[in-house]
Amino acid sequence: MLAEPDRTPYDVNFRLLGFRVRIHPLFWLGTVLLGANTLNAGLEYLAIWVAVVLISITVHELGHAIAFRRFGSDSHIVLWMFGGLAVPYSRVAGRNQRILVSLAGPFAGFLLCGLVYGSNYAIGWGSIRNGAPVAWFYTALVLVNLYWGILNLLPVYPLDGGQVSRELCEGKWRNRGRGVIVSLKISIGVAIAVAVYSIICEMDYRSRDSVLDFLPWWFPRGSLYTGLLFGLLAYQSYQLLQFHSRGYYYEAPDDRVSWEK
Ligand SMILES: [Zn+2]
Repeated sequence: MLAEPDRTPYDVNFRLLGFRVRIHPLFWLGTVLLGANTLNAGLEYLAIWVAVVLISITVHELGHAIAFRRFGSDSHIVLWMFGGLAVPYSRVAGRNQRILVSLAGPFAGFLLCGLVYGSNYAIGWGSIRNGAPVAWFYTALVLVNLYWGILNLLPVYPLDGGQVSRELCEGKWRNRGRGVIVSLKISIGVAIAVAVYSIICEMDYRSRDSVLDFLPWWFPRGSLYTGLLFGLLAYQSYQLLQFHSRGYYYEAPDDRVSWEK
């Protein structure tokens, strides 16, 4: 599932805070597809969108990488089609430490969101007075880091929240296989619920009388994209559950297991 993609001649490589970062060419393709509707506003908005995603995913993975380093494992970062990976070179010992590593990604994003929001509050750099593209960059950076962080904390495999859920379940049900099975059932249930909610949101956009009016404006709405994504994740969790139910123990795929090991 989420193994590291192979190296290509078109990779962009650089170092950040001592970590190797590799951008796979499919990162650009995935990001442009996801933000294709920004083209309606102009090419510069697509460029801003790519910058927002690049900054946000790099900061998220840096959060994981710094936590890995704090707990004694070096790692490198890969950005590709389906987001990012922080690939550690050794397993972090201790359940609480592994939970902190998983939480460090979303919380790095929340920190960035807070800094961007706070700096704009202080000096108003993201105001529409500085031009519509700057205001759009500001808003996208705040919303992406806030909502993607929340989405990532859902207890669904292989999101960060799914890793936390697995660790907590394995801690509660000491028989290792049992904890994984419970966390996979949670993952399937939550993923189906999000997929159904997303489809309702998508239908709601298209209908004249909204049935979701009772939700506050800030509550995240789903889309066709999140519906498809969580439908796929529910199916993947179901497949993993079948596998585990047959009694195999399997190291769950996550954004920390290296293909190199
Ligand atoms: Zn993450």
